[in-house]
Amino acid sequence: MTQFDYDLFVIGAGSGGVRAGRIAAKYGAKVAVAEEYRVGGTCVIRGCVPKKLLVYASRFAEEFEDAIGFGWTSEKVSFDWGALIENKDKEIDRLNKAYIRNLEAAGAELILERATIKDKHTIQLTSGRIVTAKYILIATGAAPFVPRHLPGHELAITSNEAFDLDFLPRRIVIVGGGYIAVEFAGIFAGLGVETILLLRGDQILRGFDDDIRNHLAAEMKKKGIDIRVKSDVTKIERSGDGVRITLENGDLIGAGQIMFATGRMPNTHEMGLENVGLHGNAHGAVAVNEFSQTIVENVYAVGDVTNRVNLTPVAIREGHAFADNVFGGKKIIVNHDLVPTAVFSQPELGVVGLTEAQARAKHSKIDVYKTSFRAMKHTLSGRDERTFMKLIVNTENDVVLGCHIAGEGAGEMAQLLGVALTCGATKAQFDATLAVHPTASEELVTMREKWNG
Ligand code: NDP
Repeated sequence: MTQFDYDLFVIGAGSGGVRAGRIAAKYGAKVAVAEEYRVGGTCVIRGCVPKKLLVYASRFAEEFEDAIGFGWTSEKVSFDWGALIENKDKEIDRLNKAYIRNLEAAGAELILERATIKDKHTIQLTSGRIVTAKYILIATGAAPFVPRHLPGHELAITSNEAFDLDFLPRRIVIVGGGYIAVEFAGIFAGLGVETILLLRGDQILRGFDDDIRNHLAAEMKKKGIDIRVKSDVTKIERSGDGVRITLENGDLIGAGQIMFATGRMPNTHEMGLENVGLHGNAHGAVAVNEFSQTIVENVYAVGDVTNRVNLTPVAIREGHAFADNVFGGKKIIVNHDLVPTAVFSQPELGVVGLTEAQARAKHSKIDVYKTSFRAMKHTLSGRDERTFMKLIVNTENDVVLGCHIAGEGAGEMAQLLGVALTCGATKAQFDATLAVHPTASEELVTMREKWNG
């Protein structure tokens, strides 16, 4: 019989924590999962899911325009932000309940309170209740980083608030050039908001392949998004119903809203980490080994709080592996290489594997294949939009090292390319694969011309 109240106490009911709690409970562990906000975590409540619903909403504007070339006429169309948010909220509520049901069905106990670590086996809840556990899993995720040194930063919103605005501004300024910035720029612009993106660097999406970054930036500009590089904000002030933003070069921009999409920081604040000798690393993240174990042998951490690869499927995989290892007697190491990913920008990006720069740094010789074309749909829609695809191949063994796509369905393609690259597919195997015609993705198996620069 265990001397503890629980075998496992999970702090945080997001993607990683819920998966770990469910799997551990299925192995027969006595599990509690604490959550201070809503079950489902960032992805379900104010991340991937509501974001993608808003992306769908924002794409209709172009769909209505594109339909004309196919013979459709439509009466004046209109958009109701309030209706979209109400419907989005209903879906989030449904998912929130499904997460709760799944946890409970697995036999885990859900505790809707904030939990603080007192010592390596003891947790205190907001109600004052003290519980003990053999293992503790920290799965508290991350939260938007706001540059608090900036005068007027409190006037800005983050992605958290963007999902619940009372009304759409006429103009929005988004600061940052990462996933969240480019995705929300596409959402707002698609919904008719004049959108300005301010980057401190010289191109969006640092860390992505340079060709993809340049291609997406050019396509976003065609959609009317004003991307201003090397633009640092120095001050934000209230101005009428909106804000006035001062840039380092002295430029002033007036806008209805300003949104920071300047990265995310692990949620480790006031959690009692220091009570067990854990300190956040330079980025504030909980440091773990390849088994997601901290330096305290019974305390583990998964997901964004560890700042490894901050993506939902990675957190789920880490949570599952944790439960398999600790309660299922397995020894699984999660592979953080070859993680397929999508950016739901407009056009969408789908990526798996190395960028050209990474491949050149790692391998002595690579071959690069690229294509850019007008998707068939746009021959009739008349839209000036191009699809871009790039394959990077290791010349020595012909293995495909990276695939980078910008265009409709790129995220769906990245998932399947992820299978191929995980299997170690070679360029010859891509070439031997029959095309599906007429599709955009057939280009992936018909690219022959090398662009080795
Ligand atoms: P990112 O780390 O992707 O990007 C942060 C951006 O903010 C960068 O452009 C960075 O510039 C800029 N920045 C940082 N600090 C400042 C500052 N003080 N002033 C001005 N600019 C600044 O973070 P996001 O917030 O976009 O997303 C967080 C994470 O969430 C992503 O890394 C991703 O893992 C995940 N995510 C995944 C999605 C998906 O899978 N589709 C969607 C949304 C989020 P610089 O490049 O110069 O450092």
